[in-house]
Amino acid sequence: MMRKILLDEDEIPRRWYNILADLPGSLDPMLNPQTYEPTELPPFLFASELNRQEFSTDRWIDIPEEVLEVYRIWRPTPLYRAKKLEEALKTPAKIYYKWEGVSPPGSHKPNTAVAQAYYNMKEGIERLTTETGAGQWGSALAFATKLFDLECMVYMVRVSYDQKPYRRVLMEAWGAEVVPSPSNRTKTGQKYLEEDPDSPGSLGVAISEAVEDAATNDNTHYTLGSVLNHVILHQTIMGLEAKRQFEMIDTYPDAIYGCVGGGSNFSGGAFPFLGDKLRGERKELEVVACEPTACPTLTKGIYAYDFGDSVGLAPIVKMYTLGHDFIPPKIHAGGLRYHGDAPALCRLVNDGYIRAEAYHQTDVFEAAVLFARTEGFVIAPETAHALKGVVDEAIRCRESGEEKTIFFLNSGHGHFDLSSYAAYFEGKLVDYEYPAELVKRALENLPKVGV
Ligand SMILES: *Cc1c(COP(=O)(O)O)cnc(C)c1O
Repeated sequence: MMRKILLDEDEIPRRWYNILADLPGSLDPMLNPQTYEPTELPPFLFASELNRQEFSTDRWIDIPEEVLEVYRIWRPTPLYRAKKLEEALKTPAKIYYKWEGVSPPGSHKPNTAVAQAYYNMKEGIERLTTETGAGQWGSALAFATKLFDLECMVYMVRVSYDQKPYRRVLMEAWGAEVVPSPSNRTKTGQKYLEEDPDSPGSLGVAISEAVEDAATNDNTHYTLGSVLNHVILHQTIMGLEAKRQFEMIDTYPDAIYGCVGGGSNFSGGAFPFLGDKLRGERKELEVVACEPTACPTLTKGIYAYDFGDSVGLAPIVKMYTLGHDFIPPKIHAGGLRYHGDAPALCRLVNDGYIRAEAYHQTDVFEAAVLFARTEGFVIAPETAHALKGVVDEAIRCRESGEEKTIFFLNSGHGHFDLSSYAAYFEGKLVDYEYPAELVKRALENLPKVGV
């Protein structure tokens, strides 16, 4: 039995897979947040190639040689057989995981950050802006921009800036400029600082600042690390590699698990397999999206048009949503606290191709600690949601005797999340029930789109 299945460098896939080619019917149009009319990505914010990819229905999109060259720093990533975990769970199931913690920033996020930096550089852009909460996306973009000689400006939510200095230092190590948001760099930031000089900030305000900066500065664009179709497209490199790795051992997974914040790692891992099912080449495939009970977008949200951001500046898209002004409780998996999810993923949930489950954070950390003590890797709290789903499935297999092959996307390491592990060890983690009242109130503020 192989402990890990490795590809050679020259076996990195040369094309990304676009699930829009295989979706039954087309996606509902993206709408302008002011006029509610169909829109594209604003050209003063996004590279035109990224806009083209956003709406492309070509099944395959070539990966530029310069992007492949950077991917080679850490790709192909290993596919592991979680033999020790299987033994600990006494399950007849076979568990495999694709390990993305080997990238320099430690997660799957550079798969798209590198592509976005490249296309912007190609189009003459010299500087990229973004917002970051916990700092995972900001550090991926800081890393990627450096490799293409672009400047990087990160608006980091003030509380995270103060409380989580290490991700900020990591971004600075890659040469990014990081400012706490609200900042005095933008009109939006100045307005919030006037009202409250000690404002803790929020992701919504940070997004507004990053967008304003890009819109008002020449040669500057804005970037997003999840949700959009082009982001998910770039992430399919993971699922495509995994398919080749499974072929090498003559296996195909029966069930695929991933955690969902905005949907990029989950979709990147699962869509190349789901495409087989959509095209009728495979019949049986269970696909499970795992989310926190504190932010249960897919399990408790509604499928409707909503703003992509909390301020109402971003385009309106059809997705599962808890309401754009829903503010989830402060769980330790900060990367999973988004009110909506990627439109293509939502559509496949709505059509019954993907099932969703929600877990409490103490159960999630219990699974993460079991993983550290069997497989060795200390994984991100976000990722551990997928693991919790896998552990439950493996236990069901123990009870039924089924020898299922389970695959999960292991999206990143938890080396910057040790204070969260500490809180778990000290018994300080609390579980949040579904915040039904908050969601109900937020859903009253959905845009009234007449379609
Ligand atoms: C950002 C992040 C997530 C959640 O974002 P998705 O777009 O849903 O993938 C999950 N895991 C890790 C390690 C992350 O950094």
